[in-house]
Amino acid sequence: MKTIGLIGGMSWESTALYYRLINEGVKTRLGGLHSARIALISVDFQAIEVMQHAGDWAAAGNALAQAGRQAQAAGADFLLLCTNTMHKVAPAIEEAVTIPLLHIADATGYAIRAAGMDAVGLLGTRFTMEEEFYKGRLRDKFGLDVLIPPPADREIIHRVIYDELCLGVVEDGSRREYLRIMDDLRARGAQGIIEGCTEIVMLVQQEHTDVPLFDTTSLHARRAVEQALE
Ligand code: GLU
Repeated sequence: MKTIGLIGGMSWESTALYYRLINEGVKTRLGGLHSARIALISVDFQAIEVMQHAGDWAAAGNALAQAGRQAQAAGADFLLLCTNTMHKVAPAIEEAVTIPLLHIADATGYAIRAAGMDAVGLLGTRFTMEEEFYKGRLRDKFGLDVLIPPPADREIIHRVIYDELCLGVVEDGSRREYLRIMDDLRARGAQGIIEGCTEIVMLVQQEHTDVPLFDTTSLHARRAVEQALE
């Protein structure tokens, strides 16, 4: 079994989900007392969040490149960055290590293609919804048409992620807003919705809606297990 390197803490609420999902996946595949080999480097998200909102992506890239080097030094055979947003600086991490980075948008893109869809809605932080590093990869590598909510709804999605979900707060009112925004995307042609922030699954699960959901946390963790056991 390979050792999975996790760069986590962004937020730790979702990193805890990764830890559980990866161990459950290994247990299901191997049985007995098997559990995953994991090298976890968990950063202080307060510092990273300040860099994000100040637009200092170079500093954020340096911090995560350092975390990647630490995970490799701890024995990781490949890396997962446990956040969609910080894949904006994935190239800085990839340059800093000699092991592969399993990109979260690829885990997601393969699942959407396997479901036979070509148009999906994307919910995530403003960075993930508005910039090219994520949508562009889904479009160019997987041929997907990616729809995002209008500006006012993007603000709601973004605020709930930072002010509630990353702090472990799950509110019914916020779930209702997310479900409304998902329905609007479906009315515009989305065949499914990407939960493109690793905390969104804390708020909206498949049981809450009949729109097919692509939970990036689970998809990413599942591919890590497959790769570790290859
Ligand atoms: N975990 C989130 C994501 O998947 C948001 C927190 C962050 O900015 O990294 O995008």
